[in-house]
Amino acid sequence: LRPNPRRPFILLLGARGSIPNSEDDLLIMAARTVTMVLTFAACATARDVPQRWQNRNRRVLMLISDTGGGHRASALALQAMMHKLRPCLDIKIVDIWTEHGAWPDNQMPRTYPFLCRHRQLWRAMFHMAPLLERPWFATTRLTCGAGFKRCISEYDPHLVVSLHPLCQHLPLDLSRRHDDTVPFATVCTDLGSAHCTWFVEGVDACFVATDAVRRIAESRGVARSKIRQHGLPVRRPFWQASSGAAKLARRQIAALGLEVNRRTVLIVGGGDGLGGLESVVDATASRLAADQPGAAQVVAVCGRNSAARRRLEARQQAGRWPEVSVRVLGFTNEMSEYMKAADCLVSKAGPGTIAEAAMCGLPTVLSDFLPGQEHGNLAFVTRHGFGQYVRQPKAIARHVSALLQSPAELARMSAAARAAATPLATKQIATDLLQILDRGRTADGALA
Ligand code: UDP
Repeated sequence: LRPNPRRPFILLLGARGSIPNSEDDLLIMAARTVTMVLTFAACATARDVPQRWQNRNRRVLMLISDTGGGHRASALALQAMMHKLRPCLDIKIVDIWTEHGAWPDNQMPRTYPFLCRHRQLWRAMFHMAPLLERPWFATTRLTCGAGFKRCISEYDPHLVVSLHPLCQHLPLDLSRRHDDTVPFATVCTDLGSAHCTWFVEGVDACFVATDAVRRIAESRGVARSKIRQHGLPVRRPFWQASSGAAKLARRQIAALGLEVNRRTVLIVGGGDGLGGLESVVDATASRLAADQPGAAQVVAVCGRNSAARRRLEARQQAGRWPEVSVRVLGFTNEMSEYMKAADCLVSKAGPGTIAEAAMCGLPTVLSDFLPGQEHGNLAFVTRHGFGQYVRQPKAIARHVSALLQSPAELARMSAAARAAATPLATKQIATDLLQILDRGRTADGALA
């Protein structure tokens, strides 16, 4: 069979045009229908063959570091969407600093929570980055260059995608040296502001989520023609969330171990459970116990912060919040379910969590932010009208308690959150990346 998408259509007309007058006619129609189905299946398979053949052994390398949970979440989102669009691709996500770097750079995910807790240190590092960038690049080339080179040459990718601010300089340079026909794309996973190291001139494409980040990319010399703006990629369970079916049925809420008749506050602190999570949970649960006894529940997602989780569990078992049901979790893979079950979110200003909350139409209270890097995310949420930044835990608790008692305000914020979401972003970025993969790169530095 040669690929011919029209052939099953012609058979379909033949089958529907017959009017059965006898059992024989019916048998003939049934036989035609079976033939049609088999032909359709064969044609579909035949049509797939060239593309499958073309994609066999095509490899995409996604570079991240597990500093927080957002970079991996975005990489998983694009991996799932690219696989959906091209099932035969081989896509590998690598925390290149941890798996192939040398000490102390291979400790980044462990030192990240420490830096986040010391805001002034973080602020200084963020603002000094443009000065430190070149010496740091030169040093890491000496310490990590050999490991990174091995990582790239052993996998031998046809496309490299960076989803981390520290995966441009050295990986880009080594990828070019390995094979300069392999395109290199950056997918910036920030929303309202971004670290300068995200943006280097030499990449072939640079994906940004908002105008604010686009301006930073341009100011760093990335050519306008290389910048593509779609939004932030979100993981598969969020893809349908903005279509209106964002709320869970009572049965699904019960399956999560939550009480169906209570208002639910979801409190998170990114992948590492940061942003003063413990004190926010404590203040909010205490306030709700006083204001709305028996009517509210709190889900505290501690992520990888096992110390906070242990302490919160101990307080809960000691009966500290008698009139509020508090569910304490570690790192959960059911974030989308909890977001769909919640009436309100309290979170540090992590871009991934904000983008997911927007997809779920979830009113948001921002409790903390990383100076520089996450500062612009506050404006993103307030400007779109689906949340506020409130700093002190007691003020957060008051604000949340008042919100839960204002269904009209919650509904308004929920609609504003949905309006801020970019539900097509994941598919658009994945489609663009596949085009870049197909085109490849000429040795003189343009996409083919
Ligand atoms: N996340 C998760 N399970 C958890 C905690 C967090 O899946 O228990 C996800 C969350 O849904 C989001 C990401 O981790 O996709 C956190 O990204 P964000 O940019 O908000 O903050 P980061 O941790 O990167 O600072």
